Amino acid sequence: MLQNVVVKSPIQLKDHDPAEDFGLKKEKTRQATRRLLERIGGLQAKLYANTRRSVLVVLQGMDASGKDGATKSLLEFVNPAGVEVTDFKAPSSEELAHDFLWRVHHAVPRYGRIGVFNRSHYEDVLVVRVMKLATKEVWAPRFEQINRFELNLHESGYLLLKFYLHISSDEQAERLRARIQDPAKNWKFEGADLRMRERWNDFMKAYEDAINLTSPKHARWHIIPADKKWVRDHLIAKYVCAAMEEMELSWPKPKEDLSKYQVK
Ligand code: ATP
Ligand code: MG
Repeated sequence: MLQNVVVKSPIQLKDHDPAEDFGLKKEKTRQATRRLLERIGGLQAKLYANTRRSVLVVLQGMDASGKDGATKSLLEFVNPAGVEVTDFKAPSSEELAHDFLWRVHHAVPRYGRIGVFNRSHYEDVLVVRVMKLATKEVWAPRFEQINRFELNLHESGYLLLKFYLHISSDEQAERLRARIQDPAKNWKFEGADLRMRERWNDFMKAYEDAINLTSPKHARWHIIPADKKWVRDHLIAKYVCAAMEEMELSWPKPKEDLSKYQVK
């Protein structure tokens, strides 16, 4: 039923419906999501105890696609001490004075933690390409540079889970309007959001290329229909939980022979 969420061969985004709900029922699905999130909390406790592996969740999507909301949902039942969330904004002058992966590698979570990237190194082949912040000679080789970087992480014990939050242009319009109209959301709005929105089709093409060129077995993209928040949160929880269960995490063995101790 959910097979086309995980990218295993080249995709076209027009074949993916942002409002897809796979026939799921909202209330039942919310309850199932909660159970998955609780399981993720338990798995994270083992990850934290082991400090040998790490989970890196990469969230990408257009403005207002729900990256913040997805982060909040995913981490609902995990110990905050075992989490590292990084928002990637436009690079500072210090960051621009280095290769594009410098700031990214620095933000990779410690072993034992779940890291969430809200935007990521993919901005360097997305916004940079579409808004012409660098020439093609600069951004085109980055797909392979990213693949090498992520392979290095994989071989170093990182579980990589990449989610593209796929919203429709209409749903984005609704959410941006709310950011203008609702005082509690005004702070999230920037004029630049509308300039990016004008380039919607170029962004879709850039996303398609990024997804198709950087989806090896150990670091697959997942295309998450994101018009419905409850579907988005459910699918992310489902894939993170399944992947963490496959890690077969167990409690670390005692460092000493505990049979010789007695607490009086
Ligand atoms: P939302 O999706 O809720 O709007 P956001 O992720 O857009 O949140 P903002 O603070 O609004 O957060 O914007 C961050 C901005 O930084 C984005 O426009 C993004 O494209 C930009 N950005 C991130 N990385 C880079 C980069 N490497 N080069 C240029 N711009 C970047
Ligand atoms: Mg924004």
